[in-house]
Amino acid sequence: MNSYVSHLECAYSGKRYEAGKVHTISEMGKPIIVKYDLERIAAEVPRSSIESSKEPGFWRYSPLLPVGSEKNRVSLGEVVTPMIPLENSTAIFGVDAKSVFVKDESRLPTGSFKARGLGMAVSMAKELGVSHLAIPTNGNAGSALAAYATRAGIECTVLCPDNTPEINVRETQMQGASTHIVNGLIGECGKIIADGSDEIDWFAVSTLKEPYRIEGKKTMGLELAEQMGWSLPDVIFYPTGGGTGIIGMWKGFQELIELGWIDGKLPRMVSVQSTGCAPIVRAWEEGHEFAEYWEGAETISSGIRVPYALGDFMILDAVRSSGGFAISVTDDETLEMQNQIGLSEGLLLCPEGAAAVVAYRNSLESGLVSSSESVVLFNTATGLKYPMPRVYSNIDKNNVEYSVFNSK
Ligand SMILES: *Cc1c(COP(=O)(O)O)cnc(C)c1O
Repeated sequence: MNSYVSHLECAYSGKRYEAGKVHTISEMGKPIIVKYDLERIAAEVPRSSIESSKEPGFWRYSPLLPVGSEKNRVSLGEVVTPMIPLENSTAIFGVDAKSVFVKDESRLPTGSFKARGLGMAVSMAKELGVSHLAIPTNGNAGSALAAYATRAGIECTVLCPDNTPEINVRETQMQGASTHIVNGLIGECGKIIADGSDEIDWFAVSTLKEPYRIEGKKTMGLELAEQMGWSLPDVIFYPTGGGTGIIGMWKGFQELIELGWIDGKLPRMVSVQSTGCAPIVRAWEEGHEFAEYWEGAETISSGIRVPYALGDFMILDAVRSSGGFAISVTDDETLEMQNQIGLSEGLLLCPEGAAAVVAYRNSLESGLVSSSESVVLFNTATGLKYPMPRVYSNIDKNNVEYSVFNSK
């Protein structure tokens, strides 16, 4: 079976690129996106065939994905990630918010939604005959690439800045990547890879520097639509780093509309960043088309510690044309919320996910969002990969003081 891809194009200028070839960025230095023959999909693929698909995860949306041959779909047992209602919203938000769900991406292989983008990038690399992939990463992208590349039998090299959490470095190595720690920033890791391309025949899968990670991340939006009975929430809060997810979802929604699979209103897209690294928020507030480099980026939410995003104009476009907004939250608020959601909902969010919850709460308070609006908050990874507070209660088995168990 062939894919329904018609061609690719520069996301900024619209210049066309041919399908079936290896692509990086456009002539203008902007991301290249995938275009489909949506008319033919609409004619040949009934929406009900998606609903009855036996595929348990994002491969169920194959007609809207770039991989042509089924044998090139690299899979590690993806799932449709659950939507978990926040049931104690009054305690958390101070109001009875009727419809607030966390879409929990931590259930994917390697514990983060990076599995979607890199699963797709690796599958396309397999289809196009790429034999060696390389990535600069300060977190979850490295382990997801390692896992899928290894699964596909493709060689994989990962370069991590030396402040990358130890667990991400180790899990990457454990899943088959040649893993290296660099005394520099992520941009400098990327430069090593770019400069090495003459000598080593590797292909760089940096964020938005190849066309297919967006297609993988797009499946978050397709999945959300199907889960909600082919409708969408009023507002989506999304922790934004390089922006692949927000760009991908927005692209997916347009495709669903063109196919006639959903109708009417699209969600307001809210881009959430940290006050320690908020280039998109600054550009949104100042009304700019592009975002300037954020100097001295610092936040505990390492997945959104991205000072410069190649797809900045695409993120800003999704936010603006959806009637959404961009908002930043502090690390203190984030940690407090992570703790509160654990204690009141039994959900261990990653800091990036907790940041999205804070952004929602603050937006409720300031009136940017109302409690009657339906909301989906993205928890982008498992909280298990991040530092957690230690337990201080020690019990002497020979001298148990039962009063300590009454602490609540
Ligand atoms: C990569 C990452 C993000 C940011 O994702 P983008 O779609 O690139 O903006 C958010 N949270 C976590 C946990 C991540 O690993």
